[in-house]
Amino acid sequence: MTSRRPLIAGNWKMYKTCSEAEDTAREIVKNLPDMPDVEIMIAPPATALAPVFSIIRDTPVELGGQNMFWEAQGAYTGEVSGPMLVSAGCSYVIIGHSERRQYFGETDDSVNRKINAAKAAGLTPIICVGETETERDAEKTFSVLDKQMENGLESLSADSFKGVVIAYEPVWAIGTGRTATAQQAQEVHARLRKFLDKRFGGDIASQTRIVYGGSVKPENIAELMALEDIDGALVGGASLKPDTFSKIINYKR
Ligand code: PEP
Repeated sequence: MTSRRPLIAGNWKMYKTCSEAEDTAREIVKNLPDMPDVEIMIAPPATALAPVFSIIRDTPVELGGQNMFWEAQGAYTGEVSGPMLVSAGCSYVIIGHSERRQYFGETDDSVNRKINAAKAAGLTPIICVGETETERDAEKTFSVLDKQMENGLESLSADSFKGVVIAYEPVWAIGTGRTATAQQAQEVHARLRKFLDKRFGGDIASQTRIVYGGSVKPENIAELMALEDIDGALVGGASLKPDTFSKIINYKR
């Protein structure tokens, strides 16, 4: 029996104006599960963080940023820093999402800098790793993930890594409707935990939450959550509709 508290996080990507985001947050809050053992986080676009926080602040729902820059402030037009996310009410930040790697030049090196900056700001980073379809077909899944983990977590001590969440998000499953099979997901999560064991030791490996992302929906959440090394989900498309997200977070009902 694991003591890791499951985390179900909704990534709203670049969807929703402030008023749409507020309406969605209100609906989610109305349908919270009675199980206090599941942590819930929502990550609206940056413009909607503060308005959404005003709705969820007295509820168990946590707020997350979808990205951040590694400097705390400066002449970096268009960027948002860790302390700024905290000031908007965030306790989490997603780092290295495959859409940021694909469209905005995010690298393992920038991921590494952002993890350190997020921790310094008091945020819990959710680090996304995952292979493309071509890499999986070429049987490179484990070597790709090892490299993303090694470089992304470079020079982090066990102490500074503590609390970080890993999200396994196979790129071929994001927004495609294809989900990794339970066996594929469990196999990779177990491998990631083994990596953490070698890198940071058994205590950190057994405490770290490794969540799955990639077309999670009400129909597959329970099967995924039943797997030994799956400690939650990062949900994209299905988190945009409050009734669908509510079904996911109430998967035990
Ligand atoms: C995501 O955005 O992290 C994600 C997993 O998206 P989707 O659930 O739509 O595949």
